[in-house]
Amino acid sequence: MQSLLQETQFLMNKYHIKANKALGQNFLINEEIVEQIIESAEITQEDLVIEIGPGLGTLTKELLQKAGKVICIELDKKMIKILNERFFLYRNFEILNQDVLKVDLKELIKKEKQEGKIKQVKIVANLPYYITTPIMMKLLEEQLEIESITVMIQKEVADRLIATPGEKETGAITYTVYYYATAQGVIEAQNNAFIPEPEVTSKVITLKIRKNPPVEVKDKEVMFRIIKCAFMQRRKTLMNALVNAKVFLNKEEAIQILKEIGLPENIRAEKLTLQDFANIANKIF
Ligand code: SAM
Repeated sequence: MQSLLQETQFLMNKYHIKANKALGQNFLINEEIVEQIIESAEITQEDLVIEIGPGLGTLTKELLQKAGKVICIELDKKMIKILNERFFLYRNFEILNQDVLKVDLKELIKKEKQEGKIKQVKIVANLPYYITTPIMMKLLEEQLEIESITVMIQKEVADRLIATPGEKETGAITYTVYYYATAQGVIEAQNNAFIPEPEVTSKVITLKIRKNPPVEVKDKEVMFRIIKCAFMQRRKTLMNALVNAKVFLNKEEAIQILKEIGLPENIRAEKLTLQDFANIANKIF
């Protein structure tokens, strides 16, 4: 049997493919990692899987065996030709030659669900790293009707996404993920799990979308704006960052509000839980 490395090299030679760095093309060649991605996505015949950036089709091939339907979204025309030739026999395969950031995923999912054959939607991808954050934000903020997101991304970003707010390695995005999902790490992938090798270590994570948010907040947009302001000046105390950003009118107001919700004046943004930010947002609302 051909190894994944041999299969990938064969396809690259056959179609004269040189990985396009600008499109974040690093093809997976490690069988164990592929297996782990597929396993942790828990795919069934009732699922529609949306795969972002299928590339040569390494994950696609496995997804097609498990899912009711697979819709791939790939920007690179060269890959579209390869994928169509590889998978045209599969009746559950569909491909869109588009930039994932421009696809109306809400509409796409609505249409697929209306047809009645699929019950749940899961996102699976070895993401193009140059747009990891905008893709993750889109998947979460558009509040799509999806069950889970299983993705390979840079380890450093992965650790920030799956961190618990108020603990280590957090950023503004940690709070967004936590609000919309529960997240966990699956497996790390060293550089040699891909060709060409990326410059960073990678990690697979799974996000399960929450049915209900973990905190009550009158206006979540206000809360997320406050979080962004707080982390833009994360070296400053929360109070100074939020006064500078005009979230609080002045120091006196800041001191008053922090006192009312039981936070010390000198606390820094990364020490706050999501509930703390929700409390501030509710006071300001
Ligand atoms: N899934 C393949 C694998 O695991 O071997 C390839 C993964 S590669 C890291 C990322 C893929 O995303 C590439 O095929 C690239 O062409 C595609 N891509 C890059 N930007 C994209 C975009 N804006 N929309 C959709 N696909 C994109």
